[in-house]
Amino acid sequence: EIEVRGLHKSFGDNEVLRGIDLEIEQGEVVCVIGPSGSGKSTLLRCVNLLEEPTKGQVFVGGTELTDPDVDIDAVRRRIGMVFQQFNLFPHLTVTENLTLPQRRVLKRDKATAAKVAAENLERVGLSEKANAYPASLSGGQQQRVAIARSLSMGPEVMLFDEPTSALDPELVGDVLGVMRMLANEGMTMMVVTHEMTFAREVADRVVFMDGGVVVEDGTPAQVIGDPAHERTRHFLSRLI
Ligand code: ATP
Ligand code: MG
Repeated sequence: EIEVRGLHKSFGDNEVLRGIDLEIEQGEVVCVIGPSGSGKSTLLRCVNLLEEPTKGQVFVGGTELTDPDVDIDAVRRRIGMVFQQFNLFPHLTVTENLTLPQRRVLKRDKATAAKVAAENLERVGLSEKANAYPASLSGGQQQRVAIARSLSMGPEVMLFDEPTSALDPELVGDVLGVMRMLANEGMTMMVVTHEMTFAREVADRVVFMDGGVVVEDGTPAQVIGDPAHERTRHFLSRLI
């Protein structure tokens, strides 16, 4: 479903990704872990071409995104992305935040967009906040709205970049709960996170990155429970 082949990314002289190969099957949940600066966000941003790879290929659902002839806007619609910062429009209600991109990008009519918005708000447990403004919500609620907004676009795969890192600890669980639900529903997910409990319980695979390469790729039991590499052990020991 997602395939990355020989991916390189440099910013000037700084080679941030040094040849990444990664496959994520349909319905698979892969957590990406690694130290700050190892290239996790850059990898995620290359998967939906928010960053242009210097070299290598990215495929999503069989379409090569790195093909210069591809309709990148069309492909990007199939990829949902959730960031650390929720980026909701402050002057729009929760429902309007969910309907606006559907209407603008997917050209859905008002009634359809509203119906899809209501369904997805219910999935994330926030139906009662439909008419609220973002500023009146907690960080965790805002992040769940951001997830619902992304789901309203009907993505085939979801990318998460540290979705709980900006949240107060007591709000993290609700957001992880929504992500767990998506995983159980069979969503293909690539999740950059420091939440090792989530990675251990929800991920099919864990990828440990360091210095722009994949150092270790395996089941949570292998990578977190019994890492083969000293760099992975060192990273994990500093987390606990
Ligand atoms: P963190 O855990 O802190 O989020 P990360 O693993 O996500 O780290 P990246 O954000 O991918 O790391 O950054 C990897 C390297 O790429 C860093 O050295 C960073 O300074 C550099 N970098 C990232 N984006 C840019 C950019 N737009 N321009 C220049 N350098 C960048
Ligand atoms: Mg990052």
